[in-house]
Amino acid sequence: AEEQLRQAQKMEAIGQLTGGIAHDFNNLLTGIIGSLDLMQTRIQQGRTDAVARYARAATSSANRAAALTHRLLAFARRQPLEPQPTAANPLITGMEDLLRRTLGERVQLELVTAGGLWLTLCDPHQLENALLNLAINARDAMPEGGRLVIETGNTHLDRAYARQHAGVNEGQYICVSVSDTGTGMSPEVAARAFDPFFTTKPLGQGTGLGLSMIYGFAKQSEGHVRIDSEPGRGTRVKLYLPRHHGAVPPETMASGLTEQHRA
Ligand code: ADP
Repeated sequence: AEEQLRQAQKMEAIGQLTGGIAHDFNNLLTGIIGSLDLMQTRIQQGRTDAVARYARAATSSANRAAALTHRLLAFARRQPLEPQPTAANPLITGMEDLLRRTLGERVQLELVTAGGLWLTLCDPHQLENALLNLAINARDAMPEGGRLVIETGNTHLDRAYARQHAGVNEGQYICVSVSDTGTGMSPEVAARAFDPFFTTKPLGQGTGLGLSMIYGFAKQSEGHVRIDSEPGRGTRVKLYLPRHHGAVPPETMASGLTEQHRA
């Protein structure tokens, strides 16, 4: 019930913010219409000298409007897509180049993807998006450089979590963990990090949608997401996704990775 209330409050916040975006969008449209009107008038008057200036103004407003709708679309695109058996480890290693380019030279990237495929039932594109978003957040939290580790493992990674959440049985999920050695989050920031449009980044740099989309992805996949963060030490985001019980090679179950984290 508390969760439902929180969701209801979030939806209310989204309503307010989309209202705000619609308002800004309308202002930009008004500017574009004004510029186009002026262009037509000048053309009718045979004064084409000022037309280029109005065209530039219209283009600039249109670009800003497009950026606004892009933000909304990115948020709306959290629609449930078809979950399918997805091998987490090959997906992660397939992203290595992209991740390295995203993180830049100052951040060391380590992928701990040994021990099998780690099959999960989820939308692979949303999983890629989630990992990319988490990598961007990690990079932003490590302006002086640092280390980003992505590892796949079992729910064993977090027994306390499994205990807290009745119904979370060990082995029911795979866990994809993304950890950084960055600034970490204060408890206040961590508490709000999943809220849509919550950002501590300067205007124009953060949308505050990354983690809320990841939250939506986890929920829609019937999984969970959890943040462990300590100011000054770093952040670990754990994505629990339903394990796919298809044709899983036995080696996958007896992975060294899992053993490593049992302590
Ligand atoms: P955005 O990145 O656009 O701000 P997010 O929803 O992805 O939106 O993140 C919300 C906020 O959570 C960030 O502004 C930042 O304050 C905090 N945050 C997210 N990831 C990290 C991280 N890895 N380290 C420290 N703070 C983080």
